[in-house]
Amino acid sequence: MFNTCICWLGTLLFNMMENTTIKRRLSKPIQIGGVTVGGGAPVSVQSMTKTDTRDVRATIEQIKELEECGCEIIRCAVPDMEAAQALAAIKKGIRIPLVADIHFDYRLALAALESGVDALRLNPGNIAAPDKVRAVVRSAKSRGVPIRIGVNFGSLPKDLDPELTIPQQMVEAALRHIRILENLDFDLIKVSLKAFDVPTTIQAYREIADKIPYPLHIGITEAGIPRQGVIRSAVGIGILLNEGFGDTVRVSLTSHPREEVYVAYEILKSLHLREHGSSLVSCPTCGRAEVDVVDLANRVEQYLEKIKKPIKVAVMGCVVNGPGEAKDADIGVACGKGQAVLFKKGQPVRTLKEEEIYSELIKEIETL
Ligand code: SF4
Repeated sequence: MFNTCICWLGTLLFNMMENTTIKRRLSKPIQIGGVTVGGGAPVSVQSMTKTDTRDVRATIEQIKELEECGCEIIRCAVPDMEAAQALAAIKKGIRIPLVADIHFDYRLALAALESGVDALRLNPGNIAAPDKVRAVVRSAKSRGVPIRIGVNFGSLPKDLDPELTIPQQMVEAALRHIRILENLDFDLIKVSLKAFDVPTTIQAYREIADKIPYPLHIGITEAGIPRQGVIRSAVGIGILLNEGFGDTVRVSLTSHPREEVYVAYEILKSLHLREHGSSLVSCPTCGRAEVDVVDLANRVEQYLEKIKKPIKVAVMGCVVNGPGEAKDADIGVACGKGQAVLFKKGQPVRTLKEEEIYSELIKEIETL
């Protein structure tokens, strides 16, 4: 008990050091494999595989790629028994915690638990027979495996009070599932309430926040292809995080899951909730720029994707405003006609010829 308190206090202090403005909602911590979710632990980043779970090799390959990008929890869809049984081999081939996403069929949940998954995403109210729910909960409890209740606007029960607003209906649906687990003396619970509509999602989380002690998994569901989905996710998830909600994040994009991880970190970094890898500061360019800033910034960003150090690099279009506007960058270039000034923390270091801007900047980044 004492150790738990120390641990909780530690994560709270970490949180306070990381971020001085956001007061995070306190939640009961749960353990998903080696990742603590809730209780003030850093907001974790998760994603979902887009491979056929039955294809063990392809699924492991995709998860390994996501591990490289910093994904901390991975979920796989479990549409049938073959997929449930594939989870054991997948689990052996990866390092991050594995969550099984199950709908309706309690036998898939039992098989996933036997495969050694670290968490389930399962709505117990969708399994009609109480003895079947009891069997799943008993197995999860004996293994210390948490269950995420995931309510989606698109699949709300038909018998909810029509007088309730949509966010209230989502909360009511979640509370029904939660009560089933609590009545079976199970409290390793995590909850999500997702909708495509951003204000609906935000309101649902606001309404449930003080009704339950459990950690919240946040996201905007079916957010869309990247251009639209990134914006919808950044607005929705960003507002929720800024209000202190969210213990773990999943960005849902119609895209490769590495984009989801990348975007989740950018949202967390922009609110100073996590440090992860490098950041690129680049000006929008304007009539003052005399080199192709867009091309240069894109090349630098591509290079930075593999840099794990939390450094800030600037690519600015002119020397008039560049170094000053990017003075908190660790290193940067401010371009001029046929040349660029290399600067560190806003101070000029040396001049580079136009053809060596990219290569010299990269060399300097590598020495940092
Ligand atoms: S840094 Fe210079 S080129 Fe870039 S937007 Fe500002 S003024 Fe324009």
